Amino acid sequence: MPQLARRIGRAKPSAIMVVAEKAKKLKAEGRDIISFSIGVPNFLPGPHVYDAVRDALAKDSGQYGSNRGADALLDAFLKHIEALGLTGYARANIVTAVGAKHMIYNLAEALLDEGDTIAFPTPYWTSYLDIAEIVDAKIDLLPCPPEQDYKLTPAQLDAALAKKPKVFLFNNPSNPTGMTYTKDEIAALADVVAKHPDTWIITDDIYNTMVFDGVGYHNFLHFRPELRDRVIFLDSLSKTYGMPGWRVGFMAGPETVAKAVVTLNSNHITNIPEITTAAAIAALAGPQDVPQRKCAEFQAKRDEVMAALAAIPGIVCPKPQGAFYVFPDVSAYYGKTHGPSGAKIGNDVDLCNVLLDAKGVACVPGSAFGEPRALRISYTCPTPQLAPGMQRFREFFAELE
Ligand code: PLP
Repeated sequence: MPQLARRIGRAKPSAIMVVAEKAKKLKAEGRDIISFSIGVPNFLPGPHVYDAVRDALAKDSGQYGSNRGADALLDAFLKHIEALGLTGYARANIVTAVGAKHMIYNLAEALLDEGDTIAFPTPYWTSYLDIAEIVDAKIDLLPCPPEQDYKLTPAQLDAALAKKPKVFLFNNPSNPTGMTYTKDEIAALADVVAKHPDTWIITDDIYNTMVFDGVGYHNFLHFRPELRDRVIFLDSLSKTYGMPGWRVGFMAGPETVAKAVVTLNSNHITNIPEITTAAAIAALAGPQDVPQRKCAEFQAKRDEVMAALAAIPGIVCPKPQGAFYVFPDVSAYYGKTHGPSGAKIGNDVDLCNVLLDAKGVACVPGSAFGEPRALRISYTCPTPQLAPGMQRFREFFAELE
């Protein structure tokens, strides 16, 4: 029988989806499940997005579109990033893709030859590792444990970039930790980046509107605009506008990189659909009250989750200031037994499994993100479910002996 390509042996389905699927199955069997697992924003965009879609349907051209993205969408995105303080870009610097994930895949193909190195901090978003493995890149993981608030230090970055990786991939605010770098922290990292001219820098900033406590959103380019010829900024409609299923992502970066991604688009997706384009323009250019309201709601939920975790002895959890994740270190409980079921908790995967079986609460094991001491709580569930979910979580830890 003919063989599959070697890259398929390196490709893995998302570890996050495995937990979500088990939770879904238990729910279908009638169990009362509270899901803190999948990273979806759990809200819908404003009515103006649906109005734009209806309008676009009425005028549908039925034609192929631009490989880069429709001009009106590129212009809407340019305005959007200008409001984030990323100025001086033109259409030639922008490309659309089928979500930020597809953009990362595009960039991996555009920037990495087999055996080239990509460096990124751990904990990392799972797909970084999976995509890097599919394109057969070498991966340099930069450990950022809870003791350093899951954040990369300038010294670590300096050491990593001194090895001249082809790509450094940076995510702020972070999935899975929710950690958000302050202005001073980003400025210090930008100074390090500026010292090392041989590396492409991808900043995956898709949670840039979900930042709490007045920390603000900061990018290396705010401090070192001269990095524009190496920094590739990523954004997405998924989290900001409650549109993960609409699949629209963007990059803003050097023209050469944008052109390479357009060529890749032309060879697989051709274009993002006309109807989706209309929705995306309306989301970017329309009223921003939904994302603003959601950001305030997520900050309040973050506080509720942190208060519940603080009441559990032995859990260590740096305070996240963005996105919608909390990433507690629960390793003090490894080696214990769940009293009522007798189940042994050897590691994060055991803990998440027993927690789901015993209490119907679904979380993602930290090992999916390269940090097996922790688990991820995604707190976008309907508000009335949050307190009971965290109550069950506390009860579960009280039952470990
Ligand atoms: N980057 C990060 C850090 C994410 O958390 C996600 C989705 O969870 C993505 C990229 C992918 O987003 P999209 O839905 O735009 O593909």
